[in-house]
Amino acid sequence: MNFKGALLVISGPSGAGKSSIVRELLKQIPNAAFSVSTTTRQKREGEVDGVNYHFTDKESFQKDINEGAFLEWANVHGNFYGTSLKQIMKLLDEGKLVILDIDVQGYMLLKEKLEPFITSVFLTTKSREDLKTRLLLRQGDSEEVIEKRLENAFGEMTYINHYKYLVINDDFKTALAQMLNIALAASSKRALTDTDKFIEAWAKSPK
Ligand code: 5GP
Repeated sequence: MNFKGALLVISGPSGAGKSSIVRELLKQIPNAAFSVSTTTRQKREGEVDGVNYHFTDKESFQKDINEGAFLEWANVHGNFYGTSLKQIMKLLDEGKLVILDIDVQGYMLLKEKLEPFITSVFLTTKSREDLKTRLLLRQGDSEEVIEKRLENAFGEMTYINHYKYLVINDDFKTALAQMLNIALAASSKRALTDTDKFIEAWAKSPK
């Protein structure tokens, strides 16, 4: 299996700042593309269908599962989220650095299938208290939803060791600089090159 593009997976507790980091990465890295997931969760204020997510209902989501449309899918905080297989393959074929904001369960599934092509980052806050403050500041989530996300955060933290990189989002600029470096490294993964062909062409070039 060979791809022209690469996968950059970012996971971490909800509210750790993944979306803001991803937004900046997409602005600053010319060949980066976002894997727009499908979800059954309610749209938040400011979110755009087809940009942040493809918003759908449980019935259609189940239909997609049955048809094998997802590379991975998971139930996160009571809603369904899935990564479109077709979209990922298209972006990889176009040579994109595909950025996936997915939860730990989704990453574990993806890792089983595509590990050599994945660079993984766990992004989190420096403390639980810090996460709570951020979740409270974020508009649009009810108290109940925030409580659920906080409850789930510790469980997600226990997956840290499955990730290649750990970025602690204390100072946004520092975290972003770290992420930009990691994104650059992601595009240079050896598995992305057909090394046999490369060595052959290298040897054939004039002495
Ligand atoms: P939110 O509702 O805050 O946008 O996302 C909740 C969680 O779902 C986040 O941890 C996010 O990474 C995860 N998520 C978003 N899209 C996907 C997906 O396609 N697959 C999986 N497994 N998780 C996702």
